[in-house]
Amino acid sequence: RVLRVAIMGLGSYGTRVAEAMLSCTRAKLVGVISGTPSKITDWQSRYGIPEKNCYNYENFDAIKDNPDIDAVYIITPNALHHDQVIRVAKAGKHVICEKPMAINAKKGQEMADACKAANVQLLVGYRMHFEPKTLEVIRKRKAGDFGKITFFQGLCGFTIGDPTQWRLNKQLSGGGSMMDIGIYAVNGARYMVGEEPVWVTAQETKTDPVKFREGIDETIQFQFGFPSGAVASCLSTYHMNYLDKFFLNGEKGYAEMQPSTGYGPIIGHTNAGELTQPVTNHQTVQMDEMAAILFDGMQPVVPIDGQEAIRDLKVIDAIYLAAKTGKKIGISI
Ligand code: NAD
Repeated sequence: RVLRVAIMGLGSYGTRVAEAMLSCTRAKLVGVISGTPSKITDWQSRYGIPEKNCYNYENFDAIKDNPDIDAVYIITPNALHHDQVIRVAKAGKHVICEKPMAINAKKGQEMADACKAANVQLLVGYRMHFEPKTLEVIRKRKAGDFGKITFFQGLCGFTIGDPTQWRLNKQLSGGGSMMDIGIYAVNGARYMVGEEPVWVTAQETKTDPVKFREGIDETIQFQFGFPSGAVASCLSTYHMNYLDKFFLNGEKGYAEMQPSTGYGPIIGHTNAGELTQPVTNHQTVQMDEMAAILFDGMQPVVPIDGQEAIRDLKVIDAIYLAAKTGKKIGISI
């Protein structure tokens, strides 16, 4: 069964997903939701989308009466996800939502609750959970190849441009680099180590308070402790380029990936040699796998559901609290 998807938010990542879906075997772009009529007509002609599957932000609740759409993929600014996910759920369609699913764990839980009440599934665009080299490192860790895990390092960042963009507006982004790119280190620490953190410490640095206003973090360094005694040390930033690196260390071996979460190719090696798994288009694979999850009950190696997103958001809430108070924050995920 093919997953028939409408994309909400026809911006840069929405476009990337739409292009990637042209190569899908089990997912097809069939609809759009946009506030810009000219984008709708462009997308209609590029992807062959019929008029009856085109909606705007006012009328998309009517998607409930459209039997030709199975799921809506929300690819809008972070702070809008909450209300949009709840409206799609109420329209009875499965929801795929971009990361960060919400701007805090409380809102994330409300979204998961709304999807449960509406009896629809909620999936999050965790594309790395389908990336072959990432999955190989997880497989090797589970097989004991690295021995007892002792340490993870995740470095995630880039230098952000245009100061007027939504990513630097707290009303739309919910936060700064942590929400956007630091989340990869948070999520990566969890799937690489294979445990949930029990404490968090964090330190924020801001060199440009004009560009990075109140509530928009520029750079945060953060540390986790795990139940086994393993620790993690990570960095999230909008102020340094070429930061896309994971390092996992164990008593018997290690894995190192750089780039570790970019669109690809992911490059990495372990103490045993190069990681040689194939290079994939992350979004194509993700959409095909999502069809299998939604329709066949396939269980991904690392979950991509609302609960997984809430776990990341609980950690991010704790990172912000730790950075603000300077205290070590105990957490239970
Ligand atoms: P973008 O600015 O390129 O696109 C956002 C879209 O939302 C635009 O088409 C814009 O018109 C629309 N929009 C609707 N309401 C809006 C409003 N009130 N204000 C501003 N824009 C509005 O952003 P993007 O890079 O496509 O990011 C969108 C989402 O996708 C974010 O949540 C982001 O974190 C996520 N994302 C995920 C990945 C990934 O690899 N998984 C990569 C990039 C972005």
